[in-house]
Formats: sequence, structure tokens, C-alpha cells
Amino acid sequence: MGSVQIVTTILAAAITAVAVWLAVRAVMKMTAVIRLGQPAPERFTDKGARTRTMLVETAGHTRMLKWSVVGAAHWFVMVGFIVLSLLVLEAYFEVVTPTGGLPVVGHWTVFGLATEVIGVLGLVGILVLMAIRLRNRPTRPGGRSRFTGSTMWQGYFVEWIVLLVLIFGFVIRGFKVATDHFEYPVWATPLSHAVGAVLPDWQDGASVAALIKIAISMTWLIVISLNVTMGVAWHRFLAFPNIFFKREPAKPAGSGLGALRPMMSEGKPLDFEEADPEKDQFGVAQVEQFTWKGLLDFSTCTECGRCQSQCPAWNTGKPLSPKLLVLSLRDHAYAKAPYLLAGGGKDLTGEEKATAAQLAHVDVLALAEADKPLIGTAEEGGVIDPDVLWSCTTCGACVEQCPVDIEHVDHIVDMRRYQVLIESSFPSEAGVMLRNLENKGNPWGAPQNTREDWTKGLDFEVPRVGEVDDFEYLFWVGCAGAFEDRAKKTTRAVATLLNEAGVKFAILGEGETCSGDPARRIGNEFVFQMLAQQNVETLNEAFEGREKAKRKIVATCPHCFNTLGNEYGQLGGEFEVVHHTQLLAHLVSTGKLTPVQPVDGGVTYHDPCYLGRHNRVFAAPREVLGDAIAGELTEMPRNSERSFCCGAGGARMWMEEKIGKRINVDRVEEAMATGARTVAVGCPFCSTMLNDGVNGKGAGEQVEVIDVASVLLRSVKPEQAQGDKETEPVAG
Ligand code: SF4
Ligand code: SF4
Repeated sequence: MGSVQIVTTILAAAITAVAVWLAVRAVMKMTAVIRLGQPAPERFTDKGARTRTMLVETAGHTRMLKWSVVGAAHWFVMVGFIVLSLLVLEAYFEVVTPTGGLPVVGHWTVFGLATEVIGVLGLVGILVLMAIRLRNRPTRPGGRSRFTGSTMWQGYFVEWIVLLVLIFGFVIRGFKVATDHFEYPVWATPLSHAVGAVLPDWQDGASVAALIKIAISMTWLIVISLNVTMGVAWHRFLAFPNIFFKREPAKPAGSGLGALRPMMSEGKPLDFEEADPEKDQFGVAQVEQFTWKGLLDFSTCTECGRCQSQCPAWNTGKPLSPKLLVLSLRDHAYAKAPYLLAGGGKDLTGEEKATAAQLAHVDVLALAEADKPLIGTAEEGGVIDPDVLWSCTTCGACVEQCPVDIEHVDHIVDMRRYQVLIESSFPSEAGVMLRNLENKGNPWGAPQNTREDWTKGLDFEVPRVGEVDDFEYLFWVGCAGAFEDRAKKTTRAVATLLNEAGVKFAILGEGETCSGDPARRIGNEFVFQMLAQQNVETLNEAFEGREKAKRKIVATCPHCFNTLGNEYGQLGGEFEVVHHTQLLAHLVSTGKLTPVQPVDGGVTYHDPCYLGRHNRVFAAPREVLGDAIAGELTEMPRNSERSFCCGAGGARMWMEEKIGKRINVDRVEEAMATGARTVAVGCPFCSTMLNDGVNGKGAGEQVEVIDVASVLLRSVKPEQAQGDKETEPVAG
């Protein structure tokens, strides 16, 4: 070993020792913070499916490849990071001797070729990612950036480190080529040979370059160890467990979509018959009341901003960005952690758990952080502003987009639950809706004995469950379908089409109450449970003696469709629920319904969030429209998984939209820009919101918003459909 190698070896060992010591300390700190969360035993079930999903999502980059260029570039960088870690290891042999290499594999041509290819692709990948970050930097002139609010220096830092490590990998090889100590052939390692051709014949070059490579890698480790909230770096390790422990491992996309996570306390679903707010946790009032998986979610966020770029609230000027919400919770959790780890925290009655002695040595900043209310305005020092919390439509675009499977909607609703159930703090206008649900069983407060009014004037009988036994489908009408004038036309259209196709169906009539979706999404789990239990009982009675496959329900409202199909199982109600567009598509494809007159004038389709993104029903409504309309369906730029919310979900239908641009107006402008004269929808809430948007723009005479079922009815029974126009232009 020459004198240069003695120096490079000592320096490499020293910086590595410091970096490893700091990294171990950081991992212990992060583990301790994440363990502060509540138990979540359900995350340990089904380990086979979890492992499969984790491997598919990470190795296949299935979530990121939706953003194809970014996804492909990131894939090469990720593979580069894993495989080229071996070359960092190899550098430790090279600081000791410039001709050194990894034992065994370090002399194989296959290894040389594989690392060369991955190194080159990693270089291309990181340059692409750097260009994308620069092109989308928040400070660029004009336009909104998905990186707004991200900690930009951290992103640049990580990218430069990756770039430099890759470059120095080739420099080391280049010196070996230049000094004739490189064993791999030119065909397998062309770039290394090209670099070697321009480097001098310096015998110690490889050792010095290896030291620089180790120093760069260890600088990265030191910086991230000193910044445990640096998700852009830590996600390289945390993404694996975060995906493994996602709520529903079998779901290909967005495990936090569809059903909401039940209200839990101490890792068990809360039973409202026995629940006591002084003993049981009602939602989330303190950051440590999220589960450990919630805290892992916050730690894993890469700050990529994909969620933000798709969020309807953020895109219309509301203060909510799912990314910023996650970052606020993460920063708060880590800043408060010293206080919590010292034994601090409030019990469920609000009393401090720690003694003065326990808190005596806690940093004042941590104590100050602990005093912040989780939900509160800027003046109150709140972590999350109430306007942020209440701006969410629970559309799920954030969950759908997140490459590391963060479950934003569950976290938002958990915080809403505490605000509604314990603080009675929510937008006041929603109070009427909640009172109506409690007293009348529907959000409009309509008399229950008018639930069947929509059947009046139909030229066939609509049977009730109990009057007939041999019905195939129970037609779940929903509150909008029963009481709201436009939605009633959809209900009539569906019933007419089912009757035309010879489908045996029956309704519950006055036996039906609200599915509970608006109560659950606003956070009033108590009212949801009350309504849902009543409905589950009614439905179980209606289907008594039938196996699950024969307990078929068809629903026109995607919110009911989602709640009945995905959430009633949590209360013992197992049903086969389809959306009316799915059943209609089946009836057309099997020849039971025959479109005869194509609907003309250009048609576009708006995907309802709770049908599309939350339940992956994208094809059926398009198939129905494809059969019923003249020409091709015109798609809006934001469609299918990336559809833009109408603004009504998450009980926003019953709240005023006072901040920013109205979401429905944004969507209507996009629909109208397609030039289509018909905007087809599959949800009564979307219908109301988009109709309001069209009328607000004074375009009610030119553009019609209408349910897919009504489009089909016009094509199947043109005479009968006349007069069933759903758009109601407003006077003036
Ligand atoms: S659910 Fe929709 S509205 Fe709510 S934060 Fe996510 S993207 Fe935004
Ligand atoms: S998409 Fe996921 S990882 Fe990216 S910023 Fe949003 S929450 Fe963080």
C-alpha cells in the first residue's frame, strides 16, 4: 500500500464511520417517532399479497409509469441506486489498492457490462429528472408547479449527489483503463474506455477518485441523517415498508380509495354503543393519534407534488394541497417528538400525562410545538388550517397519484371526525344537512313518504321488495334519485330501461334511507353508523336466505354504490353492488336493450370520482355512450383516473365554496372547450354541480348535462325520452 492509499483508506474509513454513526442514530430516531403512533394490527395481515404488491409496485414502478417519462427516468435511477451501491462498496477496495475490485463478481464481464449499462441509463435518468425539476421549478415564470412548497434544495442536492456518484464511478474505471488495470473488454464497457482514453496514466488516480466517490456518498448519508424529514432522500428506504403496509394490498392503485378506514381506537373499530370519548379515541386531535402507519406515510412523502398537481382544491385556489398537508403533519410530528418521547402528551380528557420532572429537559421548541392545536387558524398557531381541512372533496386524486401509497383521504377524514364529533366544529351550513340526516333520513329533509313520488306517471308498475320475491336486482334509488328533480329523471330513465330489458327489479321505497356517505365523509361517523346499520338490517331482511352472489343491488349514485358495496361489509352487510352504467352496458351487450337512434351533437363524459377513481369503473359508461351516440365520444383532457372532481364529494355538496374559483366552473369550462353539446355524467351530484356550472355561464341552452342512462333512453326509446331534459336553465 503506497502513501496515497494510506491516506485515502484512513479518510474513507473516518468519513464512513461518522456517516454510519449518524445514520444509525437517525434510523433510531425515525423508528421512535413512527412508533409513537397508534396501533394498526390490520396492517400485518396477508403478508403474501403485501410482499407481491410491494415488489410489483417498486420493481415495476406501476404507479410512477403513469407519468411515463418521469417514471422511466426514475426507474433507471432507482435500479442504478440499488445496483451501483455495489460499486460504492467496490470503491472501498479501490481506496486500498487502485487495482482493487469486488471479490468474485468484480472480475466477471457480465458484472462489468451490467454495471456499465445501468450506470449509463442512470446518468440519462438523473439528467432527465434534473431537467424536469428545473423546468417545473416553482420560481419559473408563469404556470403552477407541482413543486410549489417542496423543499427544493433537498431535491437538487439528492440529484447532484446521484449524478456525481455516477460520474465518479466512470472516472474510477477510466483511471483503471488509463493505467491498464481494467479487466473488462471494450464492447462491455465502452464509456469507461472512452473516459480512460482522456485520463492521464496516474497510478493512484483510481484510489483518489474512489475516495471522492465515497466522500460524496457519505456526505449524502450525513446530510440525510441530520435531516430526518428529508423525504426526497429517505423515501428510497421508506417507500418499501410504506407500500408493504398499505391498507389494502390487493388493490392495484390507491389502497386508500373506495371504503374509508373505520373509526378506530387502540387498533380496534369503535363500537358506538359502548364508546366513551373519555376512554376511546374519536378521530384525531393530536398528531400522535394517527396510527404508526400514518406517521410512516408522512415520513415517506417524497415531496414530488403529483398529488398537488391533481388536487381540485389546490387547482382552484383553495389553501389545501395534499402534499403541503402531509408535510405540515410530518414536520409537526418530528418537531413535537422530543416532548412525546419524554413521556409528554395529553390523555383523552386533555390532561398532561408527563410530570414536570419528565419535561424538565425537553427543548423549548418541542414544548412550543406541542402546544399547537392540530387544527387551528394561523392566529391560533394551528398546524392545519380549518379552511384546508374543509376544502377536501375526498375525490381521491391525491391517493391515486401518490407513488408511495400515502392515504391522504383517511387522514383528512380522521381529523374531521374529531372536529365534528368532539368539537362540533365544521362549516355551519353543513349542520342543516346533518340534522336532516338524523331527523328525516335524507340530506334534503324531504318527507319520507315522498320517496316513491318519482314512480308517478310511469307506464309500468315499480314493485317494492316484499311485494315480489323473485326480483334479481334491488334498485337502490338513493336520496338524490328520490327527491332531487334532475336525479329523479335519471331514476325514471333507469327504471324504464330495466323494465324494457325485462330485468326483474324491486325498490325499498319508504324503507330506504340515506346510505350515510355525506355523514361519513364530513366526519360524523355516529350518524353514518346509525343510517348504515338501519340500511344493512333492511337489506339483510330483503335478501334473507340468499347467498352473496344473489344479493344484487343496482345504484345510480356512485356515493351509494361505494358505500353499499365497499363499506357496509364493515357492518355485516355483504352485497353485490353494481352501478347502473355497468348493468346498462351489460344489457346492451347482451342484446336486451337496442339503441336505435344515435344521439347527435357531440358528447363528452365526466367521470364521477366515486365511480371512476374510487371504484375503477371507467369502461362501462363509455361503452353505453359508444352504443348510444353518433360518432366518437369526445374525451376531456382530464379523464378516467385523472378526471377532475365536480366539487361535491366529501359532503362539499352541502358546504359553501367561498375560496378561489368554483371547482364545478373549472370542470364545466373544460367540458365546454371540447365543443360537445352534451356532457354525460353518472352521478346525481355531478349532474347538479355541472348543471349549475353550465347555467352559471349562461350556456344552459347550448350545453346539456345529462345522465348516461338518459342518453341511452333517448337512443333506445326516442319518443318516450322527449321531455325528460335534465338541464334546467335558470331564468335570466
Ligand atoms: S382527496 Fe381530492 S380534494 Fe382532497 S386532498 Fe386529495 S386531491 Fe385534494
Ligand atoms: S404524491 Fe405522495 S409522495 Fe408525492 S408529494 Fe404527494 S403525498 Fe408526497
